[in-house]
Amino acid sequence: MQNVTLNNGVQMPILGFGVFQVGPDETEKAVSDALAAGYRLIDTAAMYQNEAAVGAALASSGIPRDELFITTKLWIQDAGEANTQRAFDNSLKRLGLDYVDLYLIHQPYGDYYSEWRAMESIYADKRARAIGVSNFAEDRLLDLILNNEIVPAVNQIDTNVYRQNAAYQELMKGEGVQIEAWGPFAEGMRDFFSDPTLTAIGERYGKSVAQVALRWLVQREVVVIPKSVNPERMAQNIDMFDFALTDDDMSTIAGLDTGSTAFFDHRDPHWVRQLAATRFN
Ligand code: NAP
Repeated sequence: MQNVTLNNGVQMPILGFGVFQVGPDETEKAVSDALAAGYRLIDTAAMYQNEAAVGAALASSGIPRDELFITTKLWIQDAGEANTQRAFDNSLKRLGLDYVDLYLIHQPYGDYYSEWRAMESIYADKRARAIGVSNFAEDRLLDLILNNEIVPAVNQIDTNVYRQNAAYQELMKGEGVQIEAWGPFAEGMRDFFSDPTLTAIGERYGKSVAQVALRWLVQREVVVIPKSVNPERMAQNIDMFDFALTDDDMSTIAGLDTGSTAFFDHRDPHWVRQLAATRFN
């Protein structure tokens, strides 16, 4: 597996496995299948409510801890330094781990400065090998960087061939922040898997739309965490390190950028309210 080097020297696999919207009952099997297929980075979150099932799959895999890269995330409801520490402890307990590889602030809402201070202390205590953020737009990310000690190692954002974030990636790179793409297939929206440009390029290499889409991101040094509950698709999604897109292919795909999200804008007041109201135990 190809790695990227984070701003503190930690090595992170460039491809991993995401478990958003995978129910707790399905998650243990999905993660076990993904580990068997060769994935070592698993991306979960307290909000997904499947950390315990991820932990069960990790425990039964027999894979040495130092070969795994486990990410989880802090939800908005746990703002405040003490709450963040408590939420982190609970995540560790559910995962059955004594440290995570990457701990992220899930959303750029609420008192995330107190969350970040707590995460800096979690990092100092070596209970997270790296800390970072998710869904942070340019202004919030830069403000966080300018007003704190530790620069986030990663910003996990909505990135795919239709929303490419190329300029933002450059800004992050200049600040030492690794871009990580969630929704690398836009969850299939916009007829993603029938895209004619990706289909035509894939036909030349004997690769699927999914493989071309992931390959394009990886060649841009974007970390990707595709989700699938289907073992054949898991195997397909990891099988894209044996071909390379040409410069022409890369720029053809760059032409697919719409600059807009297939999901929702994190600055939309409706969604700020909606996400702030999302609570779970
Ligand atoms: P995604 O990976 O873009 O798309 C997943 C969808 O694509 C599923 O419906 C899956 O169906 C299908 N699929 C997967 N591989 C395929 C293939 N080779 N051919 C055809 N269809 C395929 O969506 P996502 O789950 O939203 O994003 C990935 C991960 O990013 C998440 O699981 C989560 O870890 C993370 N994420 C983070 C945030 C955040 O706010 N930080 C938000 C969203 C997601 P099957 O499962 O049926 O195969």
